[in-house]
Amino acid sequence: MGLRVRVIVLVVIAVLVTQFSWGIRRIQNESDQLHQDAERHGQEVLRALAASCSVPLATRRIEELDAILARFDDDNEWKRFGLVKVAIVDADGVVVAHTDASQFGSVQTDAFTAAALASDHATAQASEEENLLLLSVPVTSGLRWGTATAKVSLDEVHSRIARSRMEILGVSLGMSAFLALVLYIGLAIQALRPLEQLTTVVRNIRDGTLQARFPKGRSDEVGILGEVFNEMADQLQAYTVQLEEKVAARTEELEAANEELALLARTDGLTGLANHRAFHEHLGRELDRARRYGQPLSLVMVDVDHFKLYNDTHGHPAGDRVLEGIAELFRRRLRSVDIAARYGGEEFGLILPATPLEAATRVAEQLVAAVREAALVGEESQPNGKVTISAGVARWDGNEAATELLQRADAAMYRAKQFGRDRAHVAPSPPLRETPR
Ligand code: GH3
Ligand code: MG
Ligand code: MG
Repeated sequence: MGLRVRVIVLVVIAVLVTQFSWGIRRIQNESDQLHQDAERHGQEVLRALAASCSVPLATRRIEELDAILARFDDDNEWKRFGLVKVAIVDADGVVVAHTDASQFGSVQTDAFTAAALASDHATAQASEEENLLLLSVPVTSGLRWGTATAKVSLDEVHSRIARSRMEILGVSLGMSAFLALVLYIGLAIQALRPLEQLTTVVRNIRDGTLQARFPKGRSDEVGILGEVFNEMADQLQAYTVQLEEKVAARTEELEAANEELALLARTDGLTGLANHRAFHEHLGRELDRARRYGQPLSLVMVDVDHFKLYNDTHGHPAGDRVLEGIAELFRRRLRSVDIAARYGGEEFGLILPATPLEAATRVAEQLVAAVREAALVGEESQPNGKVTISAGVARWDGNEAATELLQRADAAMYRAKQFGRDRAHVAPSPPLRETPR
């Protein structure tokens, strides 16, 4: 059950309970008042009757008593005050006059008449089962001559009470309905609609629409709640933006660091050339490309001559400078598509894509000459007074695996060593393979 329905049900119950308890009290008061009025009016009429009857009763002028009763009847006194069965009884309880002539001469032995005869005052007694009020007034004129009794019908009183009851019920229901309507409209405008708005805003923020806000302009409790909520949403949004910016910055830094790491993992620390792992990756990729496009590819393996001697003479740091110098020379002389790598120790591998054997041999010879020509520190101590390199050149046969190509280039390089170093040697073509049918 929604808040709106619950509040309205509560209010209607409260209104009905107050209205009914007020109504019951009012009906009770009214009922008491009507009963008292009925008794008072009945007694007044009866007193007037007793006063008129005292002398005729004292003198036993019975027919005069009947005439008096008839006169009261003519004057509508009985009907007006609801009196029925009016009787004059003598001191022994014998009826000497009665609105019902058949009762004449009968003896009234009921408890009420007996009590009335014994009392010096007017008496009244309710007789609920008959819906009647029993009244008596002593008939006196110097002495007590008899008693006037009457029964007052309470029908009119009861029907008036029933009417009041219906009126009060109607008013209570009407007021409850009216109050419920007023409350429904009031609650809807003042409290429930803004609460629903606030709920919508909260839901939107929960679902990620962080710019959702409660509309401004209310100064009541809901308005204050909305304002506090808006401040919270501002903070949340600011934190989220900050966090996102921080995450983006960190991600960027991390990506840059990863890239650098990846580069470092593939770069030789001394010469800045591709390292052994990167050389193999490049070779595999370039062989794939050459295969796909049907292009030639040549590989040159290079080894520094008598480098142990150089190190022994000048020390390893000086040897490192020589390696750096040779690497720099390769970088400068090779094309951008060529890949120079430090294969390990004082050995280098040069991948020359889209390069046939003759061109590759030319490149290798030029590099050998360039190293020889380069003025490298401490070279005078080397054989022939020069730091030199030996190179082995092999052309990929369009089919062989990287390892085979590498072995052929390596073997060619050792052949260059054997032939006196400081030169390039070309590997013979691989033996013809039988192609599977
Ligand atoms: P060869 O002409 O037959 O190749 O003789 P070599 O002395 O160059 O060959 P060897 O294999 O006997 O010695 C290679 C030397 O290269 C030994 C080693 O100290 C040196 N070397 C390998 N890596 C490095 C390096 O990173 N820095 C320095 N300074 N020297 C290195
Ligand atoms: Mg070597
Ligand atoms: Mg060497």
